[in-house]
Amino acid sequence: SRKFFVGGNWKCNGTTENVKKIVTVLNEADVPSDEVVEMVISPPFVFLSLVKGLLRSDFQIAAQNCWARKGGAFTGEISAEMLINLGVPWVIVGHSERRTLLKESNEFVADKVGYAISEGLKVIVCIGETLEQRESGATMDVLFAQIKAVADKVSKWSNVVLAYEPVWAIGTGKVATPAQAQQVHKELRDWFVKNVDVNVARTIRIIYGGSVTDTNCNELARLRDVDGFLVGGASLKPDFVKIINSAS
Ligand code: 13P
Repeated sequence: SRKFFVGGNWKCNGTTENVKKIVTVLNEADVPSDEVVEMVISPPFVFLSLVKGLLRSDFQIAAQNCWARKGGAFTGEISAEMLINLGVPWVIVGHSERRTLLKESNEFVADKVGYAISEGLKVIVCIGETLEQRESGATMDVLFAQIKAVADKVSKWSNVVLAYEPVWAIGTGKVATPAQAQQVHKELRDWFVKNVDVNVARTIRIIYGGSVTDTNCNELARLRDVDGFLVGGASLKPDFVKIINSAS
């Protein structure tokens, strides 16, 4: 009963020319109905309007970040209000690249999620452990701390999709095994049972990200607690259509 979700995170990639090419591929793609799979494309801010204007309406769009509160004197930031004003329904928050490279803390990420939700955005919240954390047995502690910070700021979980993206799998070609993914997703869902509410646990989409390709997606898509994907590199290629089709 959880609708499959496939997000394409373009990260900091694209030119006007190749954005138009990717959109053409998507517009011509044979994919399931948006009743079956929710499809969300996340271009850089500067291409949001272009993509929104060109992309067929069964695909939605997401920003890759937003500011943690109301706009104002915050040079270089984009507020949740601006995204709403532009007609952008989704935002990705807490991507590991921002947590690491831009030093976003669990609390800062949680503030962003809370504010974005309060303004009416839907949020893809990213969490994930590093290789060092996994090897030291700290995976679930790290993930629970990341999600607990968010839970302290959010009560409306219907507008949240949780993306489990192990840092060691992002852009490395080292995808999590089906067993690793299922184990973590199950433990995250159990966390919601214990700490939030059974109904939220049953309904929240927990999607997987990290080196998802058209060759590994089908096996992962069949897992009980994997409700979709957040795709980086492969979302810039025609292969992305095959990943969307792993929903059916
Ligand atoms: P890759 O699919 O390139 O590994 O990136 C995953 C990701 O970070 C999506 O947000």
